[in-house]
Amino acid sequence: MSTKTIELSAHSSSLSGDYTAPVRHDWTREQISVLFDLPFDDLLYRAHTIQRHYHAGRGLQISQLLSIKTGGCPEDCGYCSQSVHAETDLKASALMSVDAVLQAAKQAKSTGVQRFCMGAAWRSPRERDLERVCTMVEGVKALGLETCVTLGMLTATQAQRLADSGLDYYNHNIDTSPEYYSSLTTTRTLQERLDTLEHVRNAGLKVCCGGIVGMGESREDRVGMLQTLANLSEHPESVPVNSLIRVEGARLAHEHDIDRLEFVRTISVARIVMPMSIIRLSAGREHMSDELQALCLFAGAGSVFIGEKLLTAPNPTPHRDRELIDRLGATGRESSPIQWLTKSQQ
Ligand code: SF4
Repeated sequence: MSTKTIELSAHSSSLSGDYTAPVRHDWTREQISVLFDLPFDDLLYRAHTIQRHYHAGRGLQISQLLSIKTGGCPEDCGYCSQSVHAETDLKASALMSVDAVLQAAKQAKSTGVQRFCMGAAWRSPRERDLERVCTMVEGVKALGLETCVTLGMLTATQAQRLADSGLDYYNHNIDTSPEYYSSLTTTRTLQERLDTLEHVRNAGLKVCCGGIVGMGESREDRVGMLQTLANLSEHPESVPVNSLIRVEGARLAHEHDIDRLEFVRTISVARIVMPMSIIRLSAGREHMSDELQALCLFAGAGSVFIGEKLLTAPNPTPHRDRELIDRLGATGRESSPIQWLTKSQQ
């Protein structure tokens, strides 16, 4: 099978043949903009070809996300209902017990979930809380599930403690471009976010890191967000692309939706610039049609969260998701890309 690398020119219309995106960490904004500007079908073709090359046969990766400590967060992220700065009626609750979390994880496993993610609304975890989270991680791992936690900013020691407990992934999103970051959050900087990501990597954990679209950002910001992710020294293994869920009382409650095709473009470009990563179609699916979700999967998304809630936000019902997964034939079977390529040549 011959391969050609992508020529990042707007005039590059030679789209026949097989394309392998090289794994790069030196993307320029101009190159990423050129991808965004491609005719929609050309962009989809390139993204899907890369999806086939690196991920064919992998099936849909299915995660579930549980809020293990809800609300009362001192950060002022304008998109979030869990911030103390948001005027919502969300009730803050204490960190869940280990038993209650393990019960939820067992239930998730019985429905076919592969990765169990636990989120706590903290700026950063306190030591005694971190110990309890580590016990949760150990328990969830013992059930045979992959584990992910999102707990806010970590020190190097805390990241190592989580790694020692057997944690697989740490989620820490960069949300948007460096330029737009301070419009969303003023209580921390993007650099602090990047520092935590570095601690997580140094501890040997896998990284789950993405962003949110539809927060009033420009396309240039979406370009900047993807450039920041794609130029990390290692691409995140998991890249959630969220569509803003508007929550009454949160500062960004009245931002306009972005064009649905622009959302698919964002997924497609993420697929191309981080070819090995699993792109997750994340928050906001409740308001997406089945057809839009199918298009996002075609464009390169390979993972979803299932479960009635995504932290505190609504998510499609498990029944609707199961039905959609069945209709798409997007089962969770695993086979390596190499097996698929070999079969295709027989
Ligand atoms: S997004 Fe996370 S850090 Fe920001 S306010 Fe919400 S819970 Fe806190």
